[in-house]
This record gives sequence, C-alpha cells and structure tokens, in this order.
Amino acid sequence: MSDMHALVPVDAALDFVGGTGAVCDAVLRLRGEALHETLGRIAADLLASPHGRFLPGAGIGTAPGIGPVLRQVVAGSTEQFGIYEVTGRDAYGPDDARLLAGLAHLTASMLQVHSLAVRSTHAYAQMEAQLAHQSQILDQIHESVLTMDQMGYITSWNRGAEELFGYTALEAIGRNILFLYADEEEEFQDFFAERGGRMMEVRRRKKSGDVFWASLSLSPLRDLAERPIGLIAYLTDITERKQAEEQLHHLAYYDELTGLPNRTLFARLVDQALMVAQRNEAAGCVLFMDLNRFKRINDTLGRKIGDELLRQVAQRLRDTLRDEDVVARLSGDEFAVGLFDIRQHFEATTVAQKLQAALDAPFFIAGHDLRVGASIGISVYPQDGSDAETLLGLADIAMERAKQLDANPDRSVAFYSQDMNQGMQERMRIESGLRHALGNGELTLYYQPKFEIGTDRIVGAEALVRWVHPERGIVPPGEFIPLAESTGLIVQVGEWVLEQACAQAAIWQRAGIEPLRLAVNVSAREFTPSLPGRVADTLARYQLDASWLELEITESTLMHDFERVTAIMDDIHQLGVALSLDDFGTGYSSLSYLKRFPIDTLKIDRSFTTGIPEDQSDCAIAGTIVSMAQQLGLRVIAEGVETLEQLAFLRESGCDEVQGYLYSKPLPAADFERSLRENWLLVA
Ligand code: C2E
Ligand code: MG
Ligand code: MG
Repeated sequence: MSDMHALVPVDAALDFVGGTGAVCDAVLRLRGEALHETLGRIAADLLASPHGRFLPGAGIGTAPGIGPVLRQVVAGSTEQFGIYEVTGRDAYGPDDARLLAGLAHLTASMLQVHSLAVRSTHAYAQMEAQLAHQSQILDQIHESVLTMDQMGYITSWNRGAEELFGYTALEAIGRNILFLYADEEEEFQDFFAERGGRMMEVRRRKKSGDVFWASLSLSPLRDLAERPIGLIAYLTDITERKQAEEQLHHLAYYDELTGLPNRTLFARLVDQALMVAQRNEAAGCVLFMDLNRFKRINDTLGRKIGDELLRQVAQRLRDTLRDEDVVARLSGDEFAVGLFDIRQHFEATTVAQKLQAALDAPFFIAGHDLRVGASIGISVYPQDGSDAETLLGLADIAMERAKQLDANPDRSVAFYSQDMNQGMQERMRIESGLRHALGNGELTLYYQPKFEIGTDRIVGAEALVRWVHPERGIVPPGEFIPLAESTGLIVQVGEWVLEQACAQAAIWQRAGIEPLRLAVNVSAREFTPSLPGRVADTLARYQLDASWLELEITESTLMHDFERVTAIMDDIHQLGVALSLDDFGTGYSSLSYLKRFPIDTLKIDRSFTTGIPEDQSDCAIAGTIVSMAQQLGLRVIAEGVETLEQLAFLRESGCDEVQGYLYSKPLPAADFERSLRENWLLVA
C-alpha cells in the first residue's frame, strides 16, 4: 500500500484511512448480507461512485450493466473472499483501480485474520466443552478414576474416587497415593512399568479406616510429546465379589457339614506336604478312617442326628491332632488324616490309636447316647506311594483289611505294607507287654559305676533299666525305650525309675554309705515343668539328700523351647540335684549355647570313645570336648571305656571320670554295693 500513498491524492488517501477503519469495523461486527452490503457501500464511497457492491465467493462478477465497471478480486493467500464492483461514474482511471486494489487487499487481510481468529476461538471453545464433557463423564461413571504423577502424587480425583475412599478431591489431590494403601509396608511402585497395566487386585484403605478389595487398572498418562508423565488409575470396589469368591472357594474345598477340608483340598495339601517331605527326606503317612456303626445310627435315628454325630466326630478328630496335621472328610462316614511331621512310620499307629481312643466316650445327641468307633488303614510315603490319591487308595485297602482281621473293629489298625504290619504287631506286643511289666514288677535297675580317673574311686553310678521278661529273660532298654518314647509310655517308666533309684539310694544312705551320685536317665518327653516338683517330692518322701541324685538328659532335650527348658533346669538345680548332658557330641550344642544352661557334667558319647586311639577325628573330638568342658568349668566323663589305651588317652586329655566295661558292666544293686565296698577298701 506504500505506493498508493505516492499516487493517490491527499483527500482520497484520507478517505482511504476512513475506509480502513470502516472495513475493520464491518468485518468485526457484521456477518453475511449486512457485511457484504456495507463493504459495497465503503467501496462506492471510496471511489465516489453511485454504486458499489461486494459479491462474496469465488465468482468473477455480474454481467456488465450500463457504463463502465471497476472490479477487483478480494483474495487472501489461499482463498478468494469475493469481488468488489463499482459502477455509475463516467470513467475510471488507473488511480481508481489502484485505490480499489488497496481496499481489496485490506479487506482480504481483515477477512483472513478474522476467520483465523474465529476458527481458533471456536477450537478453544470446543476443547473447553470437550474437557467439561469428559470430567462430567468421569464424574458420572461409577468407577473411581484418579491420576498421579510419576512419583505417585495425586493430580486428579473424580467423584467416584470421592465416594469410594471418602476423601474429597481437595483432601486427596497433592497427597501421595501411598496414603490409600492398606498394608503399610507396601511401597509405591510404577506398576505400569512392571506389570504393563494389567488388572490387579489390591487392598486399599478408606478415610473411615475400612480396608477393602479393589480391582485396579493403570494406564500411562503422557504429554503431547508422548512422554510419560504419570498414571491414570481406575479402581472398583470388588469386596463383594471377593467374598463371593471366598465362599465359592470354601464350597469347592471344604465339607459344608463339618467344615473340614474335602477330598480335593486334602489331596492338594497332602501333595504339597509330600513335596516338602521329599526335600527333607522325611516320612509321611495317610490314614484312612471309616466309622463303625454310623450307617445304622443314620438309618434308624435319621439324618439330622447323623449329621450332628459327624460334626462332633470331626471336632474330636481335630482336637486330637496337632495343628500341622491335615484332617478331611472324604465322604459319608469316611475321614482321612495326613501326618508329615513324624520321624518313623510307626508313630502313625500311635496317632491312629489316639484317634480311636478319642471316639471312645459316647456322643450325647438329642437324648441319645451314641457310640461309634473307627477302623483305620495307613499308607506310608515314600514306601507305598508318592502322591495323595495313590496313598489314599492304599490306605483304604489297608482299612478294609484291618476291619476284617481284627476282632474289635474299633481298635483295628493296619498298614498297607505287610512288613510294616508285622513291625506294628511286634511293637504292639512289646507295648502291651511293657504296660504289663510296669504293673507286675518286671522292671529292675542295674547300676553301672563311674570311676574318677586318678583316684580310681567310684564316685557315682548310672541307673539303667532292665526288663526281666518271664519268657525272654533280660530285655535291654534299646528294645523298649524308643518304643516307650514314641507311645508316651516312657513317662510311666521314668516315674518308676526315679522312684526306684531314690528308694535304693535311701537304703544306702541309711546304711552309712558315703554319698555318691546316682544318675537317672530322663527322656525329652519327661522333661516337663512338673518334673522338678516330682523330683522334690520323691527326695522328700525318702528323706534323701539331693546330693545323691543326678539327672542325665540328652542334647535333644535342649533343642526344644529354650526358655522353658532353662526354667526347668534351674528349678532342678535349685534343689541341689546335679545335671549331666548324656551322649554329648552327637547333637548340635554350641559352646555359647551350653554356657547358658546350669549343667554340671558333660558325658562324651560312647561312639567317640570307641574310636580312641585309632581314629584321629574321634580323638580330636574327645580331646576338644574335654578342654571345652574345662573352660566352661564343667566336669567331663567318658562312657563306654573298654580298653586301657582309651583310658590312657582320656587321662592324658584331662578327662575327670570314666564309665565302661573296662571297669564294670551295669550291675544289680547288690553286686554294685559289693563292688562299692571292695573299691573303697582298695583305694583306702
Ligand atoms: P545311655 O544313657 O547312654 O547308657 C549307656 C549305655 O551304654 C548303657 O546301655 C550301658 O549298658 C552301655 N555301656 C556302658 N558301658 C559300656 C561299654 O563299655 N561298652 C558298651 N558297648 N556299652 C556300654 P543300656 O543299659 O542298654 O542303655 C541303653 C540306653 O537306654 C541308655 O543309653 C539310655 O539312653 C537308655 N536308658 C537306659 N535306662 C534308661 C532309663 O531308666 N530311662 C531312660 N529314659 N532311658 C534309659
Ligand atoms: Mg545315660
Ligand atoms: Mg550315653
């Protein structure tokens, strides 16, 4: 337009400036016909013409009328907005054409700018509307939706989230998502990076403190350049579904009547336990139980009573077993038990007998006095099978055999394997024989002297139990003590031994024999909090000085609950009764561990003594035990000393006492008393 200033007369230029303002005004304010008319008038005014028109669009003008016409296309860089057309003057010169061209140029620029502005305003409004729309949608949907930045700080929070969590957007935005976690130890993780935004089930906490299950899905939040800037989280409360699932799970795996696991769950639990057993090279047993007389009760008294009976049976079984044992109802009146924490398969018979005994007492239901018993079959892992179904099947077969063979079905127990059955029968024979022996005075005590190295004096004796069997003669303890331990009969045997040893000591005390320690072996099963009281009672009853008594315990006793064991030991020590650690070196006692127990003597196990002096490592172990005992201020005795070489080595090592065939075998009380007197005469 600069050239226009030079060529257009001053008054025309002034008109043009006025026209510029008018064009701007018209473009901003007017639309359609009104705009076109106004633009036409501006053109007519500017060119002092009787007529002026603006013809919108891409046309080329109207047909020529009377007289000359001046036309000018109004076009921007990309589109044609229309055409100016002025008529009515006698003639139009080049200056007029330039003036109209200037006006067209200005008009085109104005229209272009305006349309751009309109378009972007429109786009903006559209975006705004869309956003409002979206947040409306977000607020409408039931799901709670929230966004967070990459550190887990909440950046938005919809109404669903407000309702679900109870926090308003104001309370939630800006806080870290962790404050909603139910488990404090859980850490914020970029789950999306790790799990790819899959659905997951999480536990979250509401403002009220309630914890609930939610399904959570995460999607990445990105900026315009597609860079990740956070996460969008969608959460729904699935507590109800979870509960329903749990209920379904319960239905699928538990017996509704008794609440015990069903066959499916039993098989799973057993298979799992077998995997562990395999790793630990441990044994496992499956017991199959069938109730006797249940069908008759159910048929005659009705299902309601039958159901109640099954419930109570289940309860008694559960109460009899340890928590780690598995018990299930298979069907009808059949139950199964899985035992895995056992050392020997024969321990399963003890459990079977306990279960049968638990059913002995009558069941009182609806005024009836009902009695049921159970026949039990046992299969053993790994000998019989290595999966739950196989073991169950074989235990079932064993149960059928037990039922047929035994005169009293309520006491019938059988292993699937014939060898095990024979072993079981043998053990049952010994067990009932031992019960009989206890009541019939068939047990007796032998005394094996303990000698002090250096003086060769008898300083004590170990009381060792013998079973004088009417037919078999003297039965050594190795044949019945382990069995007594597994059946619990050891407690009665132990009571008898303590009683007998104290009675004998009291006789020697009264006879004026100088006090010596009589050592009694105490098994782990006897080592209960009632032991110190029982010892004190027995001493008092025989008016026996505590210095006459010593208890030998094994390392395995110490391996149990430390607090409990030390308390028992302290009580015994308090009485003035000595404690020695038998079979030392075979267990896992550590030095620091030993220091904490009130022990007087360590007894080197016979297996080490046997290797002296040929076996280097046995010698080293024996030597180490002696020096260790010396450092701890304990006495040390070696058992099983049979040769002079062994004695020489032990003397050299600094061992205090010895016990063994070299000096004496275990002796009956009278023989022991005789060797005691001889020994004294000898050393005096
Ligand atoms: P223990 O307490 O280690 O007893 C030592 C065992 O070694 C005794 O066997 C004894 O006769 C034997 N012995 C002693 N000197 C020698 C020797 O020089 N050479 C050989 N080869 N053996 C020797 P016993 O009497 O057969 O007792 C075996 C185990 O039975 C005992 O081992 C003890 O653990 C247990 N026991 C014995 N009597 C009782 C008791 O009254 N109560 C408890 N709970 N267990 C007992
Ligand atoms: Mg002993
Ligand atoms: Mg021993």
